[in-house]
Amino acid sequence: MDGTTLEEMRTALRGPVIGPQDPQYTQARTIYNAMIDRRPAAVVACADAADVMGAVDFVRDHGLEIAVRGGGHSGPGLCLVDDGVTIDLSPMRWVRVDPDTRTAQVGGGTLLGDLDHAGHAFGLATPAGIQSTTGIGGLTLGGGHGHLTRKYGLTIDNLLSADVVLADGSFVTASQKEHPDLFWALRGGGGNFGAVTAFTFQLNPVDTVVLGISLWPADRIQEVLRWYREFLPGAPEDLNGFFATLVVPPGPPFPEEIHGHTMCGVVWCWTGDQERGQDMLAPTGAPTEPAFHFTAPMPYPMVQSMFDELMAPGMQWYWRGAFFDQISDDAIDVHAHFAQTIPTGLSTMHLYPIDGAAHQTGPDDTAWAYRDATWSGVIAGIDPDPANADAIKQWSVEYSDALRPHSMGGAYVNFMGTGEGQDRIQATYRDHYQRLAQVKATYDPDNFFHANQNVHPATT
Ligand SMILES: Cc1cc2nc3c(=O)[nH]c(=O)nc-3n(C[C@H](O)[C@H](O)[C@H](O)COP(=O)(O)OP(=O)(O)OC[C@H]3O[C@@H](n4cnc5c(N)ncnc54)[C@H](O)[C@@H]3O)c2cc1C
Repeated sequence: MDGTTLEEMRTALRGPVIGPQDPQYTQARTIYNAMIDRRPAAVVACADAADVMGAVDFVRDHGLEIAVRGGGHSGPGLCLVDDGVTIDLSPMRWVRVDPDTRTAQVGGGTLLGDLDHAGHAFGLATPAGIQSTTGIGGLTLGGGHGHLTRKYGLTIDNLLSADVVLADGSFVTASQKEHPDLFWALRGGGGNFGAVTAFTFQLNPVDTVVLGISLWPADRIQEVLRWYREFLPGAPEDLNGFFATLVVPPGPPFPEEIHGHTMCGVVWCWTGDQERGQDMLAPTGAPTEPAFHFTAPMPYPMVQSMFDELMAPGMQWYWRGAFFDQISDDAIDVHAHFAQTIPTGLSTMHLYPIDGAAHQTGPDDTAWAYRDATWSGVIAGIDPDPANADAIKQWSVEYSDALRPHSMGGAYVNFMGTGEGQDRIQATYRDHYQRLAQVKATYDPDNFFHANQNVHPATT
């Protein structure tokens, strides 16, 4: 893009248009995952929906590539394209809570922590991910699961409407009543259908919750996973607990004697009555006493931000995901093997429960195609040192390949890695893929928005 085109864009838009010669360029193209090093021709920091409409028109009319940035947390860096234009929604970070209707409107660049903070003042929250620095945009459009999922469902199950700028630059609101086909597709279909400038969510009563962490040595993983797979699906929906393998970080609340040890365990979150929570979080029936067990009542936003410091931006990340309806003995053997080969201190495997309230929504009510799954798994290779990029990628890919035969076939779209291919995207959407392709053909027939896990527009 030449200087004249950049100047034209600057004249047309209200927010800053940042090009390679500008001092803010390095910061503007830096995203959470430092493994991604792309050089867009421009980053447009959109001030409002009008800017998004203007930017979409400009990019389309000049035949340029487009990407949309919410919180910049995508593992494969889908919010940046080389030589293209990033529509950066990060200036559109705002939340308006209506305590009477128990709803919140949020801007398209809002982060989870913004919404958690605003809702908490009213004792309200909506389910989302487990790290406050994640963008509500990408997370919601992919589905969204976290500590409240067994109680209140996926993030998309709490989405009431979305304001969307379409590929032709027009602005629509999608909800159950308006553009219901688009609304269906937005709930799980990723960033395929347009730039969402605002979301409206249902909020639910959530105030102080009880957080728990139970850890066992990694060599007990087989017996612990066998217990966990039976225990959690039968537990009350107030109890969420994601399973993890990890190297224990050197800091509180962990005692020094387990720092640096490879362990497995469960991160619990209890949303029910607080006194009962302390009992519920005792790992009742577990095969052995945990080596570490911690519980504490905490304001919900504190739980949501407890991994922020550990998982700070600027590290190398490579991840892969998979859905599971069961944790088979064979899968457990795979976990046992790869727990012993964790390549770096921060690399981890998580199994997030997506049963309970997430099973209340019908299998075809949203684009999310795995209402029959009980867990959404992610294998994340993570390290601050770029020299370890190959090692973390190799561990993640080999672990994921070994688990694949024991999974349901597809993966949560937000946990797909770089270049997994079209077959994998189709496996993720199962028989919803064709319906998504039809909606894509209606709203984006030229596949203008393709910096995403791409659904190709139907041709018939
Ligand atoms: C540390 C960490 C923890 C995570 N934990 C969880 C978790 O607990 N639960 C969970 O469900 N997921 C989790 N995720 C995955 C997360 O949902 C995805 O990375 C998601 O893509 C992040 O969205 P974003 O807006 O920050 O990303 P971006 O990189 O900005 O965008 C990702 C994709 O979404 C599109 N997009 C973003 N915003 C918009 C918008 N407003 N309109 C249109 N398209 C948009 C982009 O174009 C791109 O294709 C986690 C990720 C990280 C890095």
